Amino acid sequence: MADSNSLPARMMGSGFKRFSLLPLAITFVVVVCMSLLAIQVWMAWRARDVQLSEAARESANLAQSVAQHAYDTIKETDTALIGLVERIEKDGISDLELNRIHELLAMRVAELPQLHGIFVYAKDGSWLVNSQKVLLKNLNNADREYFKHHQSNAERGPHIGPPVRSKSTGDWIITVSRRINLPDGSFGGVALATIDMKYFKEFYDKFSIGERGAIFIANGEGILLLRRPFDEKMLGKDISQFPLFKDYLSKGPVGTASIKSKLDGVTRINSYRRVEEYPLVVSAALSQDEVLGSWRSDVYLQFMVGGILVLLISSLGYRMARQINIRSQTEQKLMLAGVELELINETLSRLANQDGLTGLANRRHFDGSLMGEFNRAQRGESSLGLIMIDVDFFKKYNDIYGHVAGDECLRKIGKVLAYSMRRPGDLAARYGGEEMVVLLPGTDLAGTLAVAESIRGAVQSMEISHTGNPLGVVTVSIGVEAFSPIHLENEPIELVEAADKALYKAKEAGRNQVCYAFSCRRSATSESLSAFSR
Ligand code: GH3
Ligand code: MG
Ligand code: MG
Repeated sequence: MADSNSLPARMMGSGFKRFSLLPLAITFVVVVCMSLLAIQVWMAWRARDVQLSEAARESANLAQSVAQHAYDTIKETDTALIGLVERIEKDGISDLELNRIHELLAMRVAELPQLHGIFVYAKDGSWLVNSQKVLLKNLNNADREYFKHHQSNAERGPHIGPPVRSKSTGDWIITVSRRINLPDGSFGGVALATIDMKYFKEFYDKFSIGERGAIFIANGEGILLLRRPFDEKMLGKDISQFPLFKDYLSKGPVGTASIKSKLDGVTRINSYRRVEEYPLVVSAALSQDEVLGSWRSDVYLQFMVGGILVLLISSLGYRMARQINIRSQTEQKLMLAGVELELINETLSRLANQDGLTGLANRRHFDGSLMGEFNRAQRGESSLGLIMIDVDFFKKYNDIYGHVAGDECLRKIGKVLAYSMRRPGDLAARYGGEEMVVLLPGTDLAGTLAVAESIRGAVQSMEISHTGNPLGVVTVSIGVEAFSPIHLENEPIELVEAADKALYKAKEAGRNQVCYAFSCRRSATSESLSAFSR
């Protein structure tokens, strides 16, 4: 078992624990930094969502405007065509009639800004009448897509053809046409209105869609009529197999989706819709990169600030953790030093109160205890006993056996004294040289004499050979005194002097005996001791 006075035992007792705050501090800093980063990522993601949904709303509004514009434009044009077809079918194509129609068409074209021209073709494709000032008679449009469409298709609805260059002006135009029937229902020709592409282009150019945004209008078969950014090569391109048509428009007439363009590879937030009543599709799209541009720079800035903050917190945390560590190490060292000091102090005070040779209390300790016990006896009106012991013929012992043996002899007598103490307050001390004392608080004369006699007997019975002593063994003479210091004038020295006197008496009386003021005895039994009592 560990000695309860040892350093480790003391340290345990003083609540000392080898617990380091360092891992706790590091965990705390890591958790704070990770939370900070997590919050930032979450906020950045949310801001991105908000930005994208705002862009989706914006592009949907744009698509709505484009569709409305297309509807209005075509509707006005088509209304003119409906009237024209009905008139030709009803009133025929006599020269008079055609002249009147010519005037009407010129008026219509002047009225409607989007109209490039209105044309009527006979069933063989030859030009019957149009809105132009001079009617060119030698031209034939039987080769045009819209002509072939109506020729082979009995449907009466409007047809919007691919973009073409006007034969008369060379401008890019969009064609809206309707079939003219003969009275028997067979194909009688085509009424055609052409819309100047500039009319759409100028409208689309008004929108602010960034550098990589796009707007387009296509007919029902997926033929591109016009696209912003404008590129002549794109006009008439078949985009019916592109994802917008294949994957999205097949599912619903209106929608918004993020799509990578097959034309230029740009990913756009694309809002598309079919135009009511007419075979037309429009789309308005904003570049995702441009939409997220400001968000991206915000995120970079946020993450830079966040990163600096994390670095700052980490370095601060690291310094703090180091300080904590150093402090706890210093505290450990201090505690260790404190415990060591306590042990040293205890040893010192023990040494300061202890006699080095016998291990009994020293004179200083005895003087202090005598004073204390005397005062206590005075207050408590109790008896205080003192035994003074002196080795007989000790000078001779030294002379015969040497000083070292003399010391050993004193040590043995010291042990006898130590064993003679029974109560916690009893104190055995080396008084000086070969003289020793025993202080017995709360003990009357009879009790003190009994202890003294037991000491004397014990020393003799050790039979330490001493040829200089007539008895042949080491013996001690003992002077005893015990009284209750009830008077205020009583002093501790009186007790010592009285015991000393009694000791002198014991020497006088022949040594190896216990004396008190009036009497001496060599061997005190309980009966004989009663004779000592005053
Ligand atoms: P008495 O019977 O009258 O007491 O004779 P004594 O020889 O013992 O005389 P006294 O008491 O005067 O002698 C004291 C001697 O004790 C003197 C000294 O040589 C010896 N002495 C004192 N202190 C020590 C010590 O620490 N060690 C040793 N070995 N001897 C000591
Ligand atoms: Mg002496
Ligand atoms: Mg002596």
